[in-house]
Amino acid sequence: MAKFVYTFGNGIAEGDSSQTNLLGGKGANLAEMSKLGLPVPPGFTITTDFCNEYFKNGGTYPESVVAEVEKALKEVEEIMDLKYGDPDAPLLVSCRSGARQSMPGMMETVLNVGLCPATIPGLIKKTGNEWFVYDAYRRLIMMYSDVVMEKAEEVEPTDGQEIRIKLENIMEDLKLDKGYESETELTVDDLSFLCEEFKKVILETFGTPFPDDPKEQLWGSIGAVFKSWHGKKANSYRKIEGIPDEWGTACTVMSMVFGNMGDTSATGVAFTRNPATGEDKFYGEWLVNAQGEDVVAGYRTPNPLNDDTKNDQNKHLSSLQQMMPKVYEELYDVRNKLEQHYKDMLDIEFTIQEEKLFMLQCRVGKRTGAAALNMAIEMLDNNLIDEKTCATRLKPAQLDELLHPIVNPEAEEKTDPVAKGLPAGPGGAIGRIVFTAEDAVKWYKEGKEVVLVREETNPEDVEGMRAANAILTAKGGMTSHAALVARGWGKCCIVGASMLEINTQAKELKIGGKVYKEGDTFTLNGTRGLVYEGSLDMLDATENPNFKRYMSIVDKFRTMGVRSNAETPKDAKTSLDHGAEGIGLFRTEHMFYGEDAEQPLFLLRKMILSSTEDERRMALDELAPYVKRDIKATMEVMNGLPVTIRLLDPPLHEFIPHGKEKQEEVAKALGIDVSEVIRRGEGLQESNPMMGHRGFRLGVTYPEITEMQIKGILEAAAEMTREGKNPKPEIMVPVTCDAKELVLARKITDKVYNLVKESYGLDNIDFLFGTMIEIPRAALLAHEMAEVTDFFSFGTNDLTQMTYGFSRDDSDVFMGPYLDYEIIDSDPFQTLDQKGVGQLITYGVERGRQVKKDLKVGICGEHGGDPASVEYCFEKGFDYVSCSAFRLPIARLAAAQAAIKAEKNK
Ligand code: PEP
Ligand code: MG
Repeated sequence: MAKFVYTFGNGIAEGDSSQTNLLGGKGANLAEMSKLGLPVPPGFTITTDFCNEYFKNGGTYPESVVAEVEKALKEVEEIMDLKYGDPDAPLLVSCRSGARQSMPGMMETVLNVGLCPATIPGLIKKTGNEWFVYDAYRRLIMMYSDVVMEKAEEVEPTDGQEIRIKLENIMEDLKLDKGYESETELTVDDLSFLCEEFKKVILETFGTPFPDDPKEQLWGSIGAVFKSWHGKKANSYRKIEGIPDEWGTACTVMSMVFGNMGDTSATGVAFTRNPATGEDKFYGEWLVNAQGEDVVAGYRTPNPLNDDTKNDQNKHLSSLQQMMPKVYEELYDVRNKLEQHYKDMLDIEFTIQEEKLFMLQCRVGKRTGAAALNMAIEMLDNNLIDEKTCATRLKPAQLDELLHPIVNPEAEEKTDPVAKGLPAGPGGAIGRIVFTAEDAVKWYKEGKEVVLVREETNPEDVEGMRAANAILTAKGGMTSHAALVARGWGKCCIVGASMLEINTQAKELKIGGKVYKEGDTFTLNGTRGLVYEGSLDMLDATENPNFKRYMSIVDKFRTMGVRSNAETPKDAKTSLDHGAEGIGLFRTEHMFYGEDAEQPLFLLRKMILSSTEDERRMALDELAPYVKRDIKATMEVMNGLPVTIRLLDPPLHEFIPHGKEKQEEVAKALGIDVSEVIRRGEGLQESNPMMGHRGFRLGVTYPEITEMQIKGILEAAAEMTREGKNPKPEIMVPVTCDAKELVLARKITDKVYNLVKESYGLDNIDFLFGTMIEIPRAALLAHEMAEVTDFFSFGTNDLTQMTYGFSRDDSDVFMGPYLDYEIIDSDPFQTLDQKGVGQLITYGVERGRQVKKDLKVGICGEHGGDPASVEYCFEKGFDYVSCSAFRLPIARLAAAQAAIKAEKNK
């Protein structure tokens, strides 16, 4: 029979901190602290494995486990020189939950177990403190009835009031009656009266009496701890955090120590460093004459631990340092020992029983992104950790916090959002709402901060999107136009907030009946997808020199390349600042949306609306210099680094002018009537454009468009070469499904190449030729595609769309319910679907490299900036990931951590 019970105490332990999977975080760290010789009350931990057994066996305990528990309890009794259930020298215990990953407040604990009329007199005699004993008893009754009798038994309160509330109300009424402000003013008689009243209500409520038998209390509490793993709170927390059900919780039974034995007793929680800033300052709160739950319960303002912890709310209260300097010194010493041992910031719980310190818990503490960064660097400088450990100390998502101004979380806590959408662009922003791109630009020029609110955005909105502090749309998913563009700029953006009823004409919007007008102020949290009315406090993401240093350390461990998705010299510069080693996706079409794009966009429209090849060629000739100019400008910024330029991808109708003025302009240029422009534009409409006339299909129907673009790329490279620069263009063909398309594209490329080479008098122009893999068929025929290409770049936005058959622009409508019903674990447009889409990627990489060993492989879909997806790409042997500039640090960190993990698992 497996061993299910592990003891600790008296300077020894059967387990240690490496066994969190088996003993839970709490059990494993109590064992470790005991081994370190720290003052830990003795106890034992029943393993997470047993938790699973317990449920398998319908909530029963095999004899062998009962025997193990009894033996462990005996050891505790010996160390404490007390006996569980003994009338003269009774031992009391606590039963505490603890999973392998901290689930703060989600599971249950019962304190003071073993106290009953039979043991009360003995404890009074032993402690000489009648008040304390009755206080402990009323706490046991309150906790036990709540945790064991109600929650664990899944009793739904018939009269709508939970037992905890009923009992608290009785206590409150008594306090009110007697004019007490705090429960510490209750007398022994009051407490004893309360205990009797409580028991009456418990019997009335559950039909069973409160168990005054120590044995029944012990097993009841242990069972309730296990059952709390499947409690409502724990279940939903696990769902959010992605914690598997089969992990189970451990149950730690440990000797009680009492913080409620009078003015020389206390209880507290602390962090070994400030968890908000990372400052190397001991930080915590405590309460005199109290038990654990009082500190967090919020009905007494806890005292500051020391001067460093004082704030406006607690500065009038005495610190532990002032009140019990000797115990504080001892605790400070424990803090130093723990940090030296764990080499990390810890969160600890302690109790002081009549001036004697006991450690009840320690675990690696949760921290903000800024704190994580500062601590990692400081610990490195103090030689507490090495560079590799330092590189693992920030979660990639925490970098996001550091890179953007954010809404102050304290302000958010106090405010209810008025709307919710998908978190498409990170950080927070405040602005006055406007409903058209033109207004956004106009207001911006007047020096006003705006939030652009649209049903959904399209390329014509880009100027307004740039001018706005944030973008909010009612429609669209994580790869919709608004999301892609905003993320590329690192701009706060929320899409798919379907509760917005926008009336652009009237310049107003309605949310649940309330009307907001143009000029009203909104605050957006783009990291969480929350919209608030009015202006909330913001925190500035100031440039932190530690950040740059941290990233240079991270890069030492990274083996996979990182590139950016960028198409302008400005974005290219930002990419370099954020550590890009090349551009993995230059979306040619973006040159028609941005600054100074008026003329090229006009010429593109002219080309699109041409009706003959001659007309089209004329327009293309006019457009060519702009294409060359823009590609060259970006390649110059990236001099010496690869730039993957993708041929035109979107369906042409996306560029068609809708405004009268623009239509007239094109009509004039083509010598036709406006009605003809409209007619030709309508002719380009498709019912399913995402699978329509786009990508290289445009090159098949209009080879002259491909020809012009390739000429632009190669001429830009030729000019740079002649100027002594080092261009590294990579021509990328999008939306392909067959190698024959690539053969055709290559034929056009070779023809243009020879012409350009000759006209520039060069022997050679270096370039690579590759394709995006974004249609399942292309992945399945990767061996054929690889024969005719130098590289693959997985376009996982389209590949996800085509594999699921989920429209990337419309999936927000059903994504929520799909997540709620757990049909999918996460939005596949945000985090790569390794199970399905991953198969196509694995197959594509393997088959591609079978025919071409050195085939370069990258990813340029939005997943290139998602940490889990980056790790996946690393595992699949990708050469690089490419993402928007502002996500580069995240990708760099994720890639480095994937390499460190792989090395560790070797
Ligand atoms: C993709 O499909 O993953 C991709 C990068 O291309 P786009 O998003 O421009 O379609
Ligand atoms: Mg694509």
